[in-house]
Amino acid sequence: MMTKEQILQWLEQFADAIAQNKEYLTQLDAAIGDADHGINMDRGFQKVASQLPKLAEQDISSVLKTVSITLISSVGGASGPLYGTFFLRASTAVAGKQELSNEDLASLLQAGLDGVLQRGKAQLGDKTMIDALSPAVTAFTQAIGQGKTTSEAIQQATAAAEQGMQATIPMLAKKGRASYLGDRSIDHQDPGATSVYLMLKSLSEVLGM
Ligand code: ADP
Ligand code: MG
Ligand code: MG
Repeated sequence: MMTKEQILQWLEQFADAIAQNKEYLTQLDAAIGDADHGINMDRGFQKVASQLPKLAEQDISSVLKTVSITLISSVGGASGPLYGTFFLRASTAVAGKQELSNEDLASLLQAGLDGVLQRGKAQLGDKTMIDALSPAVTAFTQAIGQGKTTSEAIQQATAAAEQGMQATIPMLAKKGRASYLGDRSIDHQDPGATSVYLMLKSLSEVLGM
């Protein structure tokens, strides 16, 4: 189960993780992109963090929708619309819910993933954020199907995201700026897969409490 307070804590924790890893994400993007992933994400999530106090009165779906609008309007590049789509679809998936069951949380994650897939048209193995997000959603759904607690399931999802992130290193990029590099994209970890891992890790920290 996940409460509205935990959703707000997750967003705050993720904003902190992005701020702490801003340089790291930007360095990863410097190797295979245009050195702005940390800057882009930090701009968006600092804005989200600054809005959290006034979101306390809203329901879960409205909070996620505000996050989406904030990201789309403040984050440039590929990651803004993609994360914006993730949170928009997540918002729609939990419309009317006052708290989230494990099944609701699975629907939220699946809807977010489906949105990113539709918007970005990347497939598993293209060296994008999908390579961390898709295994995480699969692991979460599988774990709750086995009767695991929310905390256990999100921990398994985070481990899957971390493995997926590491698995992007040997991949040849087929989508986004990194794809312009062809073979030179190999042997580098994808920045977007790394920020997705941080998103899951932040969620597991909040739910593990
Ligand atoms: P930009 O590449 O426009 O500068 P960012 O640097 O903020 O944007 O984000 C780059 C990340 O976006 C990549 O590391 C990758 O994970 C993700 N990405 C790029 N294109 C796509 C896509 N079509 N589908 C999914 N993720 C993508
Ligand atoms: Mg970039
Ligand atoms: Mg850019």
